[in-house]
Amino acid sequence: MEKRFVYADNSATTPVYPEVLEAMMPAFGELYGNPSSLYSKGREAKRIVDASRERIAEVLGCKPTEFFFTSCGTESDNWAIKGAARANVSRGKHLVTTKIEHHAVLHTMRALEKEGFEVTYVSPDKDGIISPESIVAALREDTTLVAVMYANNEIGTIEPIREITEAVKAYDKRILVFTDAVQALGNVKINIHELGVDMLSLSGHKIHAPKGIGGLYIRTGARVHTFVDGGGQERSRRGGTENVAYIAGLAKAIELADKNLADVPRIEKMRDRLVKGIVEKIPYTRVNGTFEHRLAGNVNVAFEFIEGESMLLLLDRAGIASSTGSACSSNSLEPSHVLLSIGVPVEVAHGSLRLSLGRDNTEEDVDYILEVLPGIVQRLRDMSPIYPGK
Ligand code: PLP
Repeated sequence: MEKRFVYADNSATTPVYPEVLEAMMPAFGELYGNPSSLYSKGREAKRIVDASRERIAEVLGCKPTEFFFTSCGTESDNWAIKGAARANVSRGKHLVTTKIEHHAVLHTMRALEKEGFEVTYVSPDKDGIISPESIVAALREDTTLVAVMYANNEIGTIEPIREITEAVKAYDKRILVFTDAVQALGNVKINIHELGVDMLSLSGHKIHAPKGIGGLYIRTGARVHTFVDGGGQERSRRGGTENVAYIAGLAKAIELADKNLADVPRIEKMRDRLVKGIVEKIPYTRVNGTFEHRLAGNVNVAFEFIEGESMLLLLDRAGIASSTGSACSSNSLEPSHVLLSIGVPVEVAHGSLRLSLGRDNTEEDVDYILEVLPGIVQRLRDMSPIYPGK
């Protein structure tokens, strides 16, 4: 088979769609005003921001006044967690989260621990699912916030957020529930009102908007401190002149992501064929995470007796972009905290591979990966002194 380029790292980031770029262009040109300026040039820019917010709120099922633009998913996670923890400190200093969160959540929790907060990290089951019961078991009288991700960026598990929220609220309705929906958006139909959460974060670059734009939903009435002090932007909750072009791009990307949910079954089929092929062709392979509630394009496997980093480089040479664990941690040689938390042994976790397909992938891409990957794994195993199959 001829060499081709296969982008199989859609959970790390996605290319900007032409429709998104087109929606952004006016704000780079004629409509350059500052939305805070009262004259017509400013009002034109403000109209873009307002219309974008309204469109997003309509798609996501919340009020426009409950949606705030941020610079990225990481900022949204920081705002939700620090803002809620600090605003409710008079009621308690106990927070609950899970062991499988993104570092944007885990490291924010660690920072709060240094401020004197106490954090309980709930374990998933062996399939990567967080049960409502395990969250409730961690709740205390002084708990003020629960943070559970909607979908995991490494193993693609989709968590029962609605059930978790119901269970937490039944325990004490004052406890705020936050979900990081960065990976779920575009894969799962999100209706915030039906979900019942108090806060939800998202990021543009995972859904074909540019890097550098994100959003945070904060339910009306939820006590959450302002995160960025400054001018009166974002109803004085998040200072800084609005990134008008990127805001327009995010609105278009969310609209497209919602429409493109129709493609999810096709992507799931490609994913399932890819996993089946990998397991059939490559011995000593472990498939990580449940297949019952999983992101459409996520494949996470671990090959015994090899190092993920070497595999990634050989795949790259063959034209395949992939990841070992999360992109944000690929600078580190630490095995993935997510894989360890579902019981993958350290040495096996080192040989993990994440392939994340998106709607631009084709059946030919799957064929190509299935043709190239077994040879690469075999080559690396042949160099391993501990591989028993030699
Ligand atoms: N949360 C999750 C689950 C993610 O996967 C990511 C990015 O990989 C983030 C948060 C951070 O988002 P951003 O890259 O926009 O800061």
